[in-house]
Amino acid sequence: MKPHYDVIIVGGRVAGAATGLLLSRLGHRVLIVDRNYPSTDTLSTHALMRTGVLQLQRWGVLPRIIERGTPAIRQMTLGFGAKRIHFDIREEYGVDALYAPRRPVLDTVLLDTAVAAGAEFWQGQRMESLTFDPSGWVTGVRLNNGRRQTTVLARYVVGADGLRSKVAAAVGAAAYEAHPPANVVTYGYFAGINDKVYVSQFTPGYSAGFFPTNDGLTCVFTARPVAAGMIGDSVEFQHVVAAASPEMGEQLYAAEQVGRFYRCAGIPGFLRVPGGRGWALVGDAGFTKDPLTAHGISDAFRDAELAAQGIDAVLTGRQNAERAMAGYQALRDRFAIPLQRVARDLAYFAWDEAEASALLRQLGKIVDEECHFLWQLDSPGAPIQSTWLERGFNPFFNLPTSGYAAVYQG
Ligand SMILES: Cc1cc2nc3c(=O)[nH]c(=O)nc-3n(C[C@H](O)[C@H](O)[C@H](O)COP(=O)(O)OP(=O)(O)OC[C@H]3O[C@@H](n4cnc5c(N)ncnc54)[C@H](O)[C@@H]3O)c2cc1C
Repeated sequence: MKPHYDVIIVGGRVAGAATGLLLSRLGHRVLIVDRNYPSTDTLSTHALMRTGVLQLQRWGVLPRIIERGTPAIRQMTLGFGAKRIHFDIREEYGVDALYAPRRPVLDTVLLDTAVAAGAEFWQGQRMESLTFDPSGWVTGVRLNNGRRQTTVLARYVVGADGLRSKVAAAVGAAAYEAHPPANVVTYGYFAGINDKVYVSQFTPGYSAGFFPTNDGLTCVFTARPVAAGMIGDSVEFQHVVAAASPEMGEQLYAAEQVGRFYRCAGIPGFLRVPGGRGWALVGDAGFTKDPLTAHGISDAFRDAELAAQGIDAVLTGRQNAERAMAGYQALRDRFAIPLQRVARDLAYFAWDEAEASALLRQLGKIVDEECHFLWQLDSPGAPIQSTWLERGFNPFFNLPTSGYAAVYQG
């Protein structure tokens, strides 16, 4: 039977919407399905790293995030025990500020932009299983909207369905660089912390952070080892923030909480083989990491672009799936494996202040290299013949060793 779509994407949040946007702009017929409603909140803080902001900017989406009242973050403070490092976010790669849009804002803007680019979106549709041809190529999805089951066929299926990805399970995508959950995260939103600075504090046994977001609120988050258990109430939350940093504790004491606490009992870290014959994984489905580094969304944006380019090369007959998906995996892992190791080492809280500072420096270097790489990619929608896939990628291309990473030298 003839496929109904070129690509079906399971999951319509950051990874799925971004992949759908890029594939639609490349001229493919895209269907995005989600069992839920991506305009609702989800368990995730939402600080974007420079790479994430760079991608939103390259895709032309950033102005709409700013229009929705997302404040620019132009200063950052890193704390390691009693030591503080203050710095400005300097303009590099066309990015002069960081942003931390609330998920309903970010996810909705991305999905709306994907739909405006031609993607269809079906909400309230749970993917139950995949369909395969006799050779093992993925041919479509079986969906259930609670009333009836439908089979929809496509030339490629993308799993953007989060860390417990059903698409990954159905294709048997192998995991590597895996570790169990290491810490518990609690966060909430507060009025009255009138600070436009992103603060991230690492004190042995505790981590805490502040960042400004929509509606004049500040997201306040804490993390501590799994063995210390979940934070019970606002008194304990206050105590953990103050233990991480007395100044932050004072600021929090004077602030007013708006809404409830969000609690995460810990998530595992892993990479999965991100593509094969008729399928690909993006976002947490392909690469989940401990949230302490706040990189999941930014990584999802990188992988959306790498996967979209690989899928496009297969659908237009320029490459076979094995080669295109191996290219996607090699490039992703060039950045993801070092990042995963830093995220894991931070997550286990087995560091002192100097070691935490060294891990953050490594993180800065990875972000710097990744910005340099993304900056070199052709604009999405540009003639695909000139992209990295046709040129053949070189994972050892020249990368800077200074720049963004230098801000962590202090
Ligand atoms: C406590 C916490 C704090 C975090 N803080 C940050 C941060 O500050 N910065 C950052 O960059 N990252 C952060 N992250 C990580 C970030 O949340 C994830 O990396 C990001 O949400 C991954 O996006 P995604 O689109 O891959 O998956 P998700 O956001 O998980 O979306 C998956 C979508 O797939 C849908 N879906 C799942 N299964 C099916 C199915 N069978 N059928 C149909 N639809 C399905 C779901 O309904 C959902 O909408 C944090 C994570 C946690 C847990």
